[in-house]
Amino acid sequence: MTKTRRLDKFAIAAALQEIAALLELKGGKDRFKARAYQAGARVVGGLSEDIGEVVLENRLTSLRGIGDALASQIEQLYLTGESSVLRGLKKDFPPGIIELSGVPGLSTAKIKTLHDALGITSVAELKAAAEAGQIRIIKGFGAKTEEKLLETIASHSLRAKNEERLHLHRALQTASQVTDYLQTSHDTTDITLAGSLRRWKETVGTIRIVANTTRPAALIKHFLGFPLVVEVIEQMEEASTVRLADGARVSLVAASPSEFALALLTETGSEAHVNKLHRIASDGANRQEAKSKRSKNPGRKSKPSTELPTEEDIYHQLGMQYIPPELREEQGEIEAALAGKLPADLVTFADIRGMVHCHTTYSDGKHSIEEMARAAEAMGMKYVTITDHSPTAFYAGGVTLDQLKQQWEEIEEVQEKVKVKILRGTESDIVADGHLDYPDKILEQFDVIVASIHSRYKMDSAKMTKRIVTAMQQPVFKIWGHALGRLIQRRPPFECDVEQILDVIAESRAAIEVNGDPWRLDMEPRWIREARKRKIKFVISVDAHSTGAMNNLKYGVGIARRGWLRKSEVLNTLGVKAFQNAVKPA
Ligand SMILES: [Zn+2]
Ligand SMILES: [Zn+2]
Repeated sequence: MTKTRRLDKFAIAAALQEIAALLELKGGKDRFKARAYQAGARVVGGLSEDIGEVVLENRLTSLRGIGDALASQIEQLYLTGESSVLRGLKKDFPPGIIELSGVPGLSTAKIKTLHDALGITSVAELKAAAEAGQIRIIKGFGAKTEEKLLETIASHSLRAKNEERLHLHRALQTASQVTDYLQTSHDTTDITLAGSLRRWKETVGTIRIVANTTRPAALIKHFLGFPLVVEVIEQMEEASTVRLADGARVSLVAASPSEFALALLTETGSEAHVNKLHRIASDGANRQEAKSKRSKNPGRKSKPSTELPTEEDIYHQLGMQYIPPELREEQGEIEAALAGKLPADLVTFADIRGMVHCHTTYSDGKHSIEEMARAAEAMGMKYVTITDHSPTAFYAGGVTLDQLKQQWEEIEEVQEKVKVKILRGTESDIVADGHLDYPDKILEQFDVIVASIHSRYKMDSAKMTKRIVTAMQQPVFKIWGHALGRLIQRRPPFECDVEQILDVIAESRAAIEVNGDPWRLDMEPRWIREARKRKIKFVISVDAHSTGAMNNLKYGVGIARRGWLRKSEVLNTLGVKAFQNAVKPA
């Protein structure tokens, strides 16, 4: 078969994802290959230049994570529309295997039997066959199995629909693939992320996108043609929700230019925030109506404006300040906006002057001091703090006193070569009794100390509280690192009396970190707001173990804004001298 149509990057990414899913099903050492294909799919899907050019100029292997084997498959897919690896894998499995293998308890062998006996290639066909009593007569299945299968399908699809939330980091990756694809449609001026993603929530149920378009129906059609769509959950003329091959749920609202702002506001949520705006709007309308009746004026309508409304306009018409998405949680932001009391200087990405909390090869980081310094400089930073682990964190290659001497010498050497100011720091362990790692006379020589807990998480609340209080009361100035030790979707925050600790910090030489590692995002917004009441200062850090992880900064800023942090409350918005003075340990 010859094909002349060239596949675009999304179709190629979809094929790579299919290969990955099939390799995953084979199991064993093919799992590792699966991961490579998965990563390759992400790289190709997220490519900002034309895939054709990259292929034709033989530059595939210069892309990160793409080796020779992967490159050859991408080339084949682009040039011929097919992949030899995919063809080979498909021979090994019955059709529909990827979707069917998602049903718990259904092994590859069983799926093959079902296919051979009944020609089943999808979950829908499986369900229909079970309901018609066709499964029970297949050898090795039986009535009980059939009944169980129906239950499983019901609960499985329910769970998939309602409960699974994507981690913010993955949701953003997937969302940018979809928006890239949507940009290729004509007549679309504006594609914007909405929902909890726009509000920088830690996890995302549905990736919500709002488009500004003069041809909504055509855009929805284009959306449904996205190659990674495996299921259409809901479809209307101007909106649709789908599920992608990786399980992500994505909804698109295609709004005409005059409706775009309101659609964006509604889709951004939160629900409670939007509902309250509605109540305010209808109260206002009722008052207006009553007023015009009393004055016996023929209800004079306000002149239709020729300018298209923006979200800002909508808030202003309701008699309040514009509310940034990160604040829209119905936690006092509407009352503050009505009173004109929202912070005007909420911290922004552009405010950050220093890259705080960076690891290097001296402990468990991937890159050298020089590489980290240059990466920070490339992002426009004025300073970078090198804060490797302290000796107690032996599992993370904590820096011993001898190595520390060496590191400080290296910092001096690198400083000769770069403009960004390199500050000597440590991420000192808060040991079990609350003291900091390294002797005091060493601690006093650092430029900056991040103090974190890395072990013994499971103390009872009283002991943990005492441990942290002791740490915060140490005479050196320290920044409380990834405060409550949570790992999103993996480990809850540890138990302690946060308010008591905040009271102590307010009286101590200490600040609190907002950790931008997307798995930590600690401390969380409600506690940031509690700390703000006590006038405690913060840093927004990256906790970077590689140069790439400096991109964590956007997450840190997002979570800080959700905590209503102002620029003046964030120490690393200061210039280098002022920052050094603010965090000087002794
Ligand atoms: Zn740490
Ligand atoms: Zn760290």
